[in-house]
Amino acid sequence: MEINSLTAAEIAGGIAEKKFSASEVFSSCMEAVHRGEPDISALITVAEETGHAAAREIDQRIAGGEKPGPLAGVPIVMKDNMCIRGLPATCGSRMLHGWIPPYDAAVAELLSGAGAVFAGKANMDEFAMGGSTEFSAFGPTSNPWDLERVPGGSSGGSAAAVAAGYVPVSLGSDTGGSIRQPASFCGLYGLKPTYGLVSRWGLVAFASSLDQIGPFARTVEDLALLLSVIARPDPRDGTSSRRERPDYTACVKNPSLKGKKVAVVKEFGAMSASVSPEVREALEKTLSLCREEGAEIVEVSLPVSLEFGLPCYYILAPAEASSNLARFDGVRYGLSSKEDSLLELYLRTRGKGFGSEVKRRILTGTYVLSSGYYDAYYLTAQKVRSLMKEEFRRAFGSCDLIALPTSPTPAFKKGELVNDPIQMYLADVFTLPVNLAELPALSLNAGFTSGKKPLPLGVQLIASRWGEPELLNAAAVLERRLGIAGTAPCTKNGKGGRS
Ligand code: GLN
Repeated sequence: MEINSLTAAEIAGGIAEKKFSASEVFSSCMEAVHRGEPDISALITVAEETGHAAAREIDQRIAGGEKPGPLAGVPIVMKDNMCIRGLPATCGSRMLHGWIPPYDAAVAELLSGAGAVFAGKANMDEFAMGGSTEFSAFGPTSNPWDLERVPGGSSGGSAAAVAAGYVPVSLGSDTGGSIRQPASFCGLYGLKPTYGLVSRWGLVAFASSLDQIGPFARTVEDLALLLSVIARPDPRDGTSSRRERPDYTACVKNPSLKGKKVAVVKEFGAMSASVSPEVREALEKTLSLCREEGAEIVEVSLPVSLEFGLPCYYILAPAEASSNLARFDGVRYGLSSKEDSLLELYLRTRGKGFGSEVKRRILTGTYVLSSGYYDAYYLTAQKVRSLMKEEFRRAFGSCDLIALPTSPTPAFKKGELVNDPIQMYLADVFTLPVNLAELPALSLNAGFTSGKKPLPLGVQLIASRWGEPELLNAAAVLERRLGIAGTAPCTKNGKGGRS
């Protein structure tokens, strides 16, 4: 049986109805992994043995008349900065070499509680810093649409694993775009939830005031299904909101954009010259479909966010990272260089363990927090962040959703930006403001480039805080209208695929 073109909902449904077993699904998933990995390298750890055991257990429970949950038997991949007990968690770094977490992240508990089966841990930019998955100590991941291109990052392995058909859904983390941008490069739906919606207990921190965990999927229904499972309050995460979560799967049942206000951003006009024409066209098409579906297109102004979001992020995120990464010192976790003095041990371990981009962030972060520079950089960036939050709050007074590109370009070539950090940072201009303002946003596939190897084009929808239902509703309408749901290289000749 080929599960490559089935959605998570179809797999869980098929297993519950005993059309096929969780073990058969998992075997098919592993076949796809072994077929794809030599080219794609999406996974750092393949959880073959533990996955087979978990799938067998699901089958036994079903045979015993139990209903093991909404994701029963669905194979899933998690980014390698989230802990699964007993499996290595590397964060794409040499620094955590040999570290096996003794506990499950909150999302891992929730997923296995819902019956999901872990197929592996996904490649990522080291400690989630980057936008191409080229900053992994384990080598780059390839984009399944075009192996010469990057899958995006930092959650590039999680996105590639879904686009390549290993698994129908996966989890990533998004500090400044790391779910949305790889989703856009790999032709998937990717959701960055409101800050505080999903527990980060067991997620290795990058920038704690920005990090959120969220799902990747090939359909909006699967995105909602996964979100329903992971969006739970958690007292172990001090930033986890206690508010009641709606049933996200209900938001995609009878979707409608009638009477909704979808905003374009005034300042985007002046920036659009630096955006690829195909991305601009995808955005235009999305807006005209919204209009045809009864939405009103309005304009909002976000001058601070679009001009200063990027520098603000690249001060605050490194500042937080420099503090968070201080714990990797050769004493507590993973790598340790045996030296005569404690100082040598710290220096050598950190010198060998961290890659160049992580070192760049630690240096920048330490600098902007240092006495004499703190006021000019860190404090000023915090003030700008407050202005951005206020600016978005005002904007959502006159609209339900804001539409922007996810990334200024489709997937770029491997090696193209890796030696030019500033260009790589500039590509984050449309995603970073969302994290700084603690908002939810969704990237959807709105079409393809023309040419021999079509590349997916992503559009981003942003909602106000806790506006995930609004995002899922709109994405479900657009999914129907665009008619390319479930399209992925793995389904090219299959159901819903491009032939
Ligand atoms: N590309 C951004 C960065 O390098 C975002 C990363 C992320 O969201 N984890 O920091």
